[in-house]
Amino acid sequence: MPGNPLSSVSAILPPTPSGSSAAPEATSAADPWMRELATLLGELETICQTRRRLPPVLSAMRDNQLVQVRLGIASSLFKALQFKHPATAGHSLRVALTTSAWALQAGLSDNLRDVIEVAALLHDIGIVSLPDHILLKPGLLAPDEMAVVIRARKASAEILGPSCASPEMLEIVENVSAWYDGTRAGFSLRGEAIPLGARMISIAEAFDAMTTEHVYRPARSHERAIAELFECGGTQFDPHLVSQFADFLSGDVSMIQHEAAARWLRALDPELVNSYWHWNTVPSPSVPQGNHKIHELFEHKLLENMHDAVVFIDAAGRITLWNRGAERLTGIAGTSVRGHLWNPDLLHLADEKGNFIGDNDCPVHTALSSGVQSLRRLTIKNRVKRPMAVNAHAIPVAAEGGEMTGAILLFHDASSETSLEQRCQSLYEKATRDPLTQVANRAEFDRVQETFVTAHKQQNAPCSLLICDMDRFKQVNDTFGHQAGDDAIKTLAGLLKNACRPGDLVARYGGEEFVMLCADCDNATAARRAEHIRKALFHTPQQRMNARPVSASFGVTEMQPGDTPETMLRRADRALLIAKAQGRNCVVQLGSGSGKDSSSASFRIPPRRSDKPHEVLQKTLITAVPVKMAVEKLRGFVADHQAEVVSIHGNHVVLEITDQLSYRMRRVSDRAMTFTIDLKFEEERTHPEVTRCRGSAGLVRTRIHVQISLQKIRNRRREEVLHRAEQVLISFRSYLMATEEEENDREESAFVRVGRILIPWLIRRK
Ligand code: GH3
Ligand code: MG
Ligand code: MG
Repeated sequence: MPGNPLSSVSAILPPTPSGSSAAPEATSAADPWMRELATLLGELETICQTRRRLPPVLSAMRDNQLVQVRLGIASSLFKALQFKHPATAGHSLRVALTTSAWALQAGLSDNLRDVIEVAALLHDIGIVSLPDHILLKPGLLAPDEMAVVIRARKASAEILGPSCASPEMLEIVENVSAWYDGTRAGFSLRGEAIPLGARMISIAEAFDAMTTEHVYRPARSHERAIAELFECGGTQFDPHLVSQFADFLSGDVSMIQHEAAARWLRALDPELVNSYWHWNTVPSPSVPQGNHKIHELFEHKLLENMHDAVVFIDAAGRITLWNRGAERLTGIAGTSVRGHLWNPDLLHLADEKGNFIGDNDCPVHTALSSGVQSLRRLTIKNRVKRPMAVNAHAIPVAAEGGEMTGAILLFHDASSETSLEQRCQSLYEKATRDPLTQVANRAEFDRVQETFVTAHKQQNAPCSLLICDMDRFKQVNDTFGHQAGDDAIKTLAGLLKNACRPGDLVARYGGEEFVMLCADCDNATAARRAEHIRKALFHTPQQRMNARPVSASFGVTEMQPGDTPETMLRRADRALLIAKAQGRNCVVQLGSGSGKDSSSASFRIPPRRSDKPHEVLQKTLITAVPVKMAVEKLRGFVADHQAEVVSIHGNHVVLEITDQLSYRMRRVSDRAMTFTIDLKFEEERTHPEVTRCRGSAGLVRTRIHVQISLQKIRNRRREEVLHRAEQVLISFRSYLMATEEEENDREESAFVRVGRILIPWLIRRK
């Protein structure tokens, strides 16, 4: 049992039944289930008999006589306790006899001793309200079960109250479980303020509990029990009384009890005995008085008129209130369910997926055991026995001292909310899905691509984009009909969906064109996956096309530093166009990817102080390719950024680029910025030993002087302008696969003017 080992509550636990015997005859030899049931019933009967056969304190007859002479007309109460739990009844009688002898020796007045004796006999009468699964549990009690036991013991005074004529006796019964230092939750008295009788009974009953055999603990020796009483003196027990009790007990306990019993039988006057009990006036049901009563009336009216179902459940799990709302919602009458144990099966409680809620995940159980409230969407069986969605709110109820006294369960009809949620869900699906293929539509792709790109940038993780378009699809439609075309579109969508990994998204971008966002995926992997899909499509015979296959071309690109969703998409589209130009039914990848050394983090762009107000930044870059190839890459940059080639003079190229922020990243105040990019190309030959530029196979490389200026500087925030210019420069560097020029690069090389090479290449662009 948790808590203090001397907790007098321990007295209630009975010895284990000593094995089973005499199972009733098997009902039917043919039916193993019935045989098992008969055996179980037999065991139960044995347990009950064993409980009734507990040894009496003196003798069965003598015990009854003692109770009758001491309690008079209240003996029936003790009899009820004996039926409920003989162990507790025996314990009470032993405690009463011991305390009686102790009180005599301590010289207490006859009156006080009488009161203490009656209180000791009935101090545990509240145990009759304890559920059997706790009372008969053969092991240690859990904290929530322990709370139920304490609550049941407190019920003792409530049971005695209506017919008890001695407030003094009631006060003793109420405080038997109080601790001397006042620390036990739920008790307000401490020290000497606790009635003397209560302090004495608590010591005598702890001693009795410790010296009695229990299933979970053997009986302790008297010396050990006394030592433990001393250990708890000052906290649980009155220390002065503990030493008085220890002196008193130096004799034989059972002898002491016998002497007290003899005195009871000899000296107790039946008239006097009955004077502790009387007929208390029944409170009149007239109009309640005082603020407290008025509040109760308001609360009662509120509960009865609430539309929501409200159920109160006490700490023992019994339903104590079932309001009209609960009756309306469930069709179960309050009168039929009040007093019964709460069980989630009562309402066929299930979660949103239709899985039934068991005892362990029942919100009431959680509230009682953890003291935490919960709000969940569940379903119950409603009054016409159909599942109904409810918002189930379980609220634990704790007393002032923190002791758990029960839980409130509140059900709110959520059926209208669920139908609204379902409608929203279907509207959302309609708005985001392509009806023919059930993959995402273009609007959804545009929305997701934005967040997809941002998230991968933040995590510095690679991601790729794949675009595919059916080859010569007009011919498919023309030759085999539109339905055959639709089937082929569904085949491609299905293959793309099957190739999806967690985090990927497939969308129908246009007629027979699809896109796929590949999470955590680099260029090479995306190209391999595209190749796989391409092959699978080309090997799928189309039924409506006389088992002939269709084919598709694929463009693949990986996100690279400086990319926006738009540049990434345009680059992938360019790759697709190249695939078409290369003869279709193939995969083409473009872009430098997010290779570590070209990441924006390693690229330092200090803001430049310049006399020219429009100039934002400038940089010298080196790319390890000849100028011819660098210009080819420049064409990719120009195409994907939709840049304008303003002029080409010699080795000098001027571009104009309008940096449109993606629509989701844009704020109302954001406007497009047009940058002028001034580029000077120099092809140079390095000495053979200079191989610092990564990927340099030979000795030819290209140096590019980049200068970026903003066309209109008016009303622009400097940091914002710088940030966006940096992004353009980072993207340029990615396209050109360039690095920053280092200090001594120039001395080690001789450069060549490249105007001659540039012009014809860029003119093709124009
Ligand atoms: P290419 O290889 O160059 O892509 O040739 P193509 O014939 O496929 O050319 P394009 O991509 O421009 O043609 C698209 C055709 O796809 C036009 C249209 O008839 C057809 N199409 C678009 N949407 C659908 C659809 O939902 N169902 C069917 N059956 N055909 C569609
Ligand atoms: Mg096509
Ligand atoms: Mg097309």
